[in-house]
Amino acid sequence: MSAMRSLESILEHGSRDSTYKFALISAIIDYLIEHPAQIPKNYWHFIPLWYVVLQFIGYYHPLILLKIPQGPQRTGRNRIALEGYFEHFFTSVHGLDFDPRIPENANKLWSMIRTNPTLDAAMERLLRETRNLIVDQPLRYVQNVKGERISFFSLLTRGVPMTADFEMHLKKASMPSRELTKLRPLNWNKLLTREKSYIVLSHNDYAELSTYRFWLKDAVIKRWAEECVTRFGASDTRLLTVLDFWKKQPERDSKIIKKYKALYSKLNFSRCLYCQVDLTPSKFVLDHFIPWARYPVNAFWNLYPACSNCNQEKSDSLPVINDELRDRIKDHLTGVISYYGGEGSDDKGFREIVLNDLLMFYQEKVGKEISSVGKVDQEETVLAIMGFLMAVLSDLAKIIPGKRFTL
Ligand SMILES: [Zn+2]
Repeated sequence: MSAMRSLESILEHGSRDSTYKFALISAIIDYLIEHPAQIPKNYWHFIPLWYVVLQFIGYYHPLILLKIPQGPQRTGRNRIALEGYFEHFFTSVHGLDFDPRIPENANKLWSMIRTNPTLDAAMERLLRETRNLIVDQPLRYVQNVKGERISFFSLLTRGVPMTADFEMHLKKASMPSRELTKLRPLNWNKLLTREKSYIVLSHNDYAELSTYRFWLKDAVIKRWAEECVTRFGASDTRLLTVLDFWKKQPERDSKIIKKYKALYSKLNFSRCLYCQVDLTPSKFVLDHFIPWARYPVNAFWNLYPACSNCNQEKSDSLPVINDELRDRIKDHLTGVISYYGGEGSDDKGFREIVLNDLLMFYQEKVGKEISSVGKVDQEETVLAIMGFLMAVLSDLAKIIPGKRFTL
């Protein structure tokens, strides 16, 4: 069965269960959107389970704040699990610089998890319980929809033989509290580094779904919205507000953008990538080289200083690369990587955000062991990232119509 067919079957027939399946599928598609040119390892693609957990939290936080009910039975044992975890989190979290109970702040939680140097006990519990819920429910039940075997993705847990049955991989993917306690002080990089469970897609399925990534996301969200309204009685206004939150993903990463802006200023990146005009602080913007609407990734290889004119003119168009632009990109990457690999104080957590990006890059794109990220070969890293960036661009250029931005 093709991956599209499997997906359709889940959306059509998985309704016996709660809408956790929508969040699971949406998280997988988010990953495809963020990693369009991912190189398979032995013909497989691996999505860290923690990534899925974070997306889950991002989707459910606004749903819970706006009290849009989810799932068929209000009183079932598993029904309100996520609501309960959030409630506990709201009453016991400390040290946030925003109130997570206010709908306007729904996207900040997502960003906070990725950027806070340490995650407190309440945060740790929310992450762990969300993970265990995903393992216990949608991962288990979407494998079999009305007797139809869904096989476009699977789960693999390190340390469990590949040939072991799915249930065994599932069981080992859950996270007992002592395992996380051992990692304290906890942060996002540490979670990713210690990940042992991955959602696995074959390269064929990954490529098939990748072709339709943006449309797939819209299709899933439309189904989800319909279910919220028709089955759970969500009001149209509340639902529109939630859809708005899901659309405003860039705000999720406002902390990262601010940090990169500060780092680039520190590194004296003071020229527009495109027109080379000198940038004063008031003219300085960070441009997503591959536009956010096409590639929602806030990594340093996609964020460049630009003047607001070029940024506006470029808008959602894909850039056309020439030799000059290639050299400027190379200089930018070299600057960031040398800073990371060099010595010196790091009072603002700059190294941490670069490390976060490098971890993702090495883990997901080139399959290197994480332990070697600490001692990166700078030139090799720059070349690897450039190759990757060009691959993403050429991959997207094949499926995205419209005008291109040229120097
Ligand atoms: Zn410019």
